[in-house]
Amino acid sequence: MEKRCYYEILGVSRTASTDELKKAYRQLALKYHPDRCPDDPEAEDRFKEASEAYEVLCNSEKRSIYDRYGHAGLQNSGYRGFTDASDIFSSFSDIFEGFFGFGGARTGRPRTPRGDDARYDLEVSFENAIFGKTTEIEFTRLKVCSECNGSGAKSPSDIGTCPTCRGRGSVVSGLGFVQMSSTCPSCRGTGTIIRERCAVCKGKRLVKKKAKLEISIPSGVETGNYISLKGEGHEVPGGVPGDLHVVFIVREHEFFTRLNSDILCEMPISFTQAALGTRIEVPTLRASRKLAITPGTQSGTVLKIQGEGVPGKGFYSGGDLLVKIIVKTPTRLTAEQEALLREYARISGEEAPEKKAGAFQRIAEKIF
Ligand SMILES: [Zn+2]
Ligand SMILES: [Zn+2]
Repeated sequence: MEKRCYYEILGVSRTASTDELKKAYRQLALKYHPDRCPDDPEAEDRFKEASEAYEVLCNSEKRSIYDRYGHAGLQNSGYRGFTDASDIFSSFSDIFEGFFGFGGARTGRPRTPRGDDARYDLEVSFENAIFGKTTEIEFTRLKVCSECNGSGAKSPSDIGTCPTCRGRGSVVSGLGFVQMSSTCPSCRGTGTIIRERCAVCKGKRLVKKKAKLEISIPSGVETGNYISLKGEGHEVPGGVPGDLHVVFIVREHEFFTRLNSDILCEMPISFTQAALGTRIEVPTLRASRKLAITPGTQSGTVLKIQGEGVPGKGFYSGGDLLVKIIVKTPTRLTAEQEALLREYARISGEEAPEKKAGAFQRIAEKIF
């Protein structure tokens, strides 16, 4: 299915504020909510579409990628959208608050606990960020303790009913008409107590485990771009694991810098090369290319070598290498070079100073 423009989906302008986005999304979410339109696949598609548009446009980073490179750019940065409706509800619980029933969750569906998300900062060389690469990362995440199956107890017989709340998980305080119910302080709401703790996880129910994963760095990533790997985050007993967010940090290059999809560099040339014209060799990320300098090139001129930038992908085209020409003024002249330059100045009708630093001396004599 052809993806529609996010702004169009929400019916907002390209400069819409967060408040405007929220308002537009709330209206659409109410209209196409799965509880309101059960067994209507088209409404479900509309609901998903609007949720994705809202998620992207509300996130300044994702929004700027989308504004610049469109859907393909987002995909390239690792954005995958939502998998199902419950994914949407857990992401925007603030939006659904007070929509239907209690707490915004869908009626009749208990919420599965979800593990925490994990984050991994992946340093990427300048070249690998341009061309993309597959690499392996090693990181630590929390896994459900296999010794106690996440119960935290040494053996099942070490799990007992909490005497404070008698297994209810909550305690009632107050007398008469005003009664307050709160989470049981002894068992923290679990309703159970552990007599002897698991020796491996010390009763924490989770253990730290090293994990290795293959990560494919998408071509063209910039510092701050990230990919999210579903279910590769921390586990939680009796629930689903969180996600792993791999954040890319691109190292600087000694010669090249990056501007969106273009690569920039500076090339020094002598002033005679600039005046007479020449061909110079410019290094690129792939090999080196010859570049013609036309006679009379000024310092600061930017020359373009097409197709030597970030490679194109999907519907957005690749960038170029922009070479900024810096004309170097010689700092040390031999007697012969100096004589020739003085001659050059004389022919050009310039007033040549008699000796080195003469001009400065004349100015200095006037001032002091
Ligand atoms: Zn209790
Ligand atoms: Zn354990």
